[in-house]
Amino acid sequence: MATTAKKINGTQIPSPHDWRTTDDDEVNKRRLRARQESFTISNLDPQHPVFSNFRVASGSGLTYSVEIRDVRQRQFACGCVDFRTNGLGTCKHVEAVLLHLAARFRRLFKAAQQNGSNRIEVVVDSNADTLRMHNGHGELPDALQKWFDAEGNLASPDLSGECAITALKQLREAGFPQIRISQEVAGWLENRRRAAERKQLRREYELKQMMRDALDVNARLRPDIVVLDEETRTPLQEAIHNLARALAVENRLPGPASLDDAVLPPLSQCWNEALPLLRSFVAEAAQPWKPVADALDKMAPARNA
Ligand SMILES: [Zn+2]
Repeated sequence: MATTAKKINGTQIPSPHDWRTTDDDEVNKRRLRARQESFTISNLDPQHPVFSNFRVASGSGLTYSVEIRDVRQRQFACGCVDFRTNGLGTCKHVEAVLLHLAARFRRLFKAAQQNGSNRIEVVVDSNADTLRMHNGHGELPDALQKWFDAEGNLASPDLSGECAITALKQLREAGFPQIRISQEVAGWLENRRRAAERKQLRREYELKQMMRDALDVNARLRPDIVVLDEETRTPLQEAIHNLARALAVENRLPGPASLDDAVLPPLSQCWNEALPLLRSFVAEAAQPWKPVADALDKMAPARNA
């Protein structure tokens, strides 16, 4: 491999015919592109010369956002497709910013390499699907300990993250300019919001489906048979059980394991005035079915609206 590799501008890259590229080769390829192509780079938060966010405009006219978190341990982010998919943690835009910083702020960049970042970073942990806080220099400020545990994980996994971010933004304004909320956080929050919305829609759909199945029974039973026998009771029993399941979902209660559970606490509170009727129907075989089916139907309009 050494014989086919060549050096361009001091960067070692393998021959294009050599498919055995390593991660180092892949990083070098991007570094080379960063050198060869022309980019216009602007710092979006100049009070932080190195550990900042940069707009990188490529020659093609497209712009990308680059986040420099740590130059020694190479922690970066970029909004381009290559960065998201290559698994290298870098791309030509990141490399272009690093080259720009190393050339333009030589001493500061060297110091940044040696001393690390002074910023408190809130980043997306995509493996754990949560937010993490990272402080290169010691403990978290007291005001942040409410939101993140000692390891820097979002304190409660149930937290949407939105409230933590709002609080952090306020804190940053109030005198902690070193707090940075990663450029990846907004997209992550938006994805979470959409996922929760989809879950809610699915829940409502299932709920409606369960109710429709339950209430369909009234139309299927023969009105001339007043008291159902064991066999014809089954659809109505299932209807009660299904409607109880739907009510449990709706009221965030545990689902009924059996038909008896459907009319016992805690679900009993959901039936309102239909409860006595349903209880006697569940308990006793010989009960007229029509009032029960009507009571189930009556629960429908308000809920299916
Ligand atoms: Zn990029």
